[in-house]
Amino acid sequence: MNQRHSASLALVQKPGLYHADGLFTKHRGHFLAVKTADCLPLLLANEDVIGVIHMGWRSAEKGILKNISFDLTDFKVAAGLGLRSCCYQVGNEFREFGEFSSYLRTTSKGVFFQPIRFARDQLIAKGLKKDNFFDLSLCSYCLRRDFFSYRGSKTGKRNLSFIGFR
Ligand SMILES: [Zn+2]
Repeated sequence: MNQRHSASLALVQKPGLYHADGLFTKHRGHFLAVKTADCLPLLLANEDVIGVIHMGWRSAEKGILKNISFDLTDFKVAAGLGLRSCCYQVGNEFREFGEFSSYLRTTSKGVFFQPIRFARDQLIAKGLKKDNFFDLSLCSYCLRRDFFSYRGSKTGKRNLSFIGFR
């Protein structure tokens, strides 16, 4: 994907580079990949469709998960390596995003966003069963010595998460 922190999803018919922040395909033999360095990669699948989503806060706030056109009732979703609420400190301006208001945690150190709870709730609203949401619980900042974290080192490099359909 040529990712732009947008809320655009594309349906892949043939291999290539897509201008989007989420891809789905029904074609067996295809692999879908997402690049991240703190944003949250989401991998989705049922028997007929696979998908990847690049969920940074901009895409989240613009409604990328609400734009999913599939009923997620029989999907499974995995949340991969990304910034977790332990390290997702945000500015007070996040309070102005109504969508995020239930997903901010205030501590003596500041305000923290909870991307996993946000993603899970939005996907459940799309039909996903609670037990079919799997969190790898890997925080890219906590693990910045092993993986690429933009907050950790302002790196231009990215972690690659992918899903294949056989
Ligand atoms: Zn962390």
